[in-house]
Amino acid sequence: DAKQEGRNIWNWYQCDRHRVTEEAVLLRHDLHTALRHDQFELYYQPIVEAVNGRIRGLEALIRWHHPERGMISPGVFIPLAEQTGQIIPLGRWILRRACQDVATMRAEGGRVVPVAVNISSLQFRRDGFLADVQAALDDAGLPPELLQLEVTESVLLDGAERAIELINQLKAMGILVALDDFGTGFSSLSYLRDLPIHKVKLDRSFIQDIATSRSNAAIVQGIITMAHHLDLVVVAEGIEEREQQQDLIRRHCDLLQGFYFAKPMPRGAVMGLLDLLPEPVAPRAQPISALL
Ligand code: C2E
Ligand code: MG
Ligand code: MG
Ligand code: MG
Repeated sequence: DAKQEGRNIWNWYQCDRHRVTEEAVLLRHDLHTALRHDQFELYYQPIVEAVNGRIRGLEALIRWHHPERGMISPGVFIPLAEQTGQIIPLGRWILRRACQDVATMRAEGGRVVPVAVNISSLQFRRDGFLADVQAALDDAGLPPELLQLEVTESVLLDGAERAIELINQLKAMGILVALDDFGTGFSSLSYLRDLPIHKVKLDRSFIQDIATSRSNAAIVQGIITMAHHLDLVVVAEGIEEREQQQDLIRRHCDLLQGFYFAKPMPRGAVMGLLDLLPEPVAPRAQPISALL
């Protein structure tokens, strides 16, 4: 009966919650040794020009190869690393590895595009962050134009002034900053005006049902138009279908990223893709994945 069912749901919920917590404890513990044991890898996902599919950049996305659990999603372990403070050494490792990887691509003579690295707000606001960024560039011998950073609106949580100052300093170092997941947080449209960013990334949640949801389509169009008036480049995340590409081209979105074009992949694979796809002469209507 309904009462019994209610009890079952409650038990299930409690049990599940317990399991999730226990798992978090275990994972947090494993994170401690993961860096030392070389269990992390950076994958790279192409960011393409909307109208022709040409690769204009890469986003570095971390992967954890857990010895027993296999691949663990950053959506799971990045928040844990933030809770424990391990995001600081991990974030430093990510910056260095991304810079080294692009330096390697350059040294091997292939086509090179800028790589965007996700930066946790904790890492961003911490003293010494700019020095870490400069050291990563210097040690890899990488020109700053080839490194970009992605931050979310949460960098604004304790005041816009510091975020503005940091982004201006990065700009002075030659590094462009994108505002990631735009529209999902505590978005105030005035952030787009106040932050000295270069690019806005529209969150996948707006793109998913752009064809069927008039309200999401209106939000996307509004953000693109406003961002362009503020001289910002607009990237749409999570493109999975040709119709979404067509729609965003019509709305004058500049850059696109998503499984329709290419999934995140190891460095070697993305280097191969860059070499396979030199300057296209005609606009490309085909997904990159169809060419592999
Ligand atoms: P994000 O920065 O917004 O990254 C985009 C996410 O969307 C990635 O998930 C990517 O694999 C996924 N994605 C791209 N195209 C598609 C698509 O067409 N469909 C679907 N369903 N998903 C798509 P991922 O790699 O699991 O990363 C999740 C989040 O974890 C990232 O969101 C970012 O917030 C965080 N993250 C990942 N790598 C790093 C890192 O190196 N440092 C930090 N601080 N955070 C990271
Ligand atoms: Mg990102
Ligand atoms: Mg994003
Ligand atoms: Mg995201």
